[in-house]
Amino acid sequence: MAGLGYSDARRQTAAAAGEALAQGQGPAKAARAAITATDSFFDRVRVALKLDEQLANQACAAGCSWCCHQIVAITAAELDLVAEAIAAKPPKARAAIAARAREAAAKGAGLDQRQWWAARIRCPLLEDDGLCGIHESRPLPCRAHNSADAGACRRSFEGEAVRTPVLAAQQGVWAHAQTGLAEALAQAGQSAMGLNLALAVDELLKG
Ligand code: SF4
Repeated sequence: MAGLGYSDARRQTAAAAGEALAQGQGPAKAARAAITATDSFFDRVRVALKLDEQLANQACAAGCSWCCHQIVAITAAELDLVAEAIAAKPPKARAAIAARAREAAAKGAGLDQRQWWAARIRCPLLEDDGLCGIHESRPLPCRAHNSADAGACRRSFEGEAVRTPVLAAQQGVWAHAQTGLAEALAQAGQSAMGLNLALAVDELLKG
């Protein structure tokens, strides 16, 4: 399938984000352009690889949030997009996010991914109803997560050594897309440093 490899996802996302940056649209819009380009790319992958049945069998659904308890590594552009979504919320909701971010930072600073997961640290953007509070603006790694077995996700969250069945194509496309976004940022002389979403939100909202 010419033009549908992971490196193509990286290249196309880098091009879309790079164009937004070249037009002076700023990092948040570059992140949005990267997301739009990757959505479109994955749609082509879905058709080419006939993934509809596998996607229909995904267990991921609104309110299921086991995976929202791990370190989400993001670029500064994704943080800008998240920041815009937080800023658009009413003061009470922003204060709740800030409190959860403070708690996550207090528990999680210095932990690696395995330790963070074991500590069951909740993403500060995760609302009490199990929904992502910034769903439309969620970072690229959050769009990569998928599972065909929510029970396996729960058991893993509870500490059992269990493998979660995932759709590798979805994970791979979004992971390479984030690399493309980082490349576009670096090319434009902007920070492409990997940030921990929860800790970055804490820094952002510190009074
Ligand atoms: S940003 Fe949203 S989807 Fe991503 S980990 Fe946090 S709550 Fe979950």
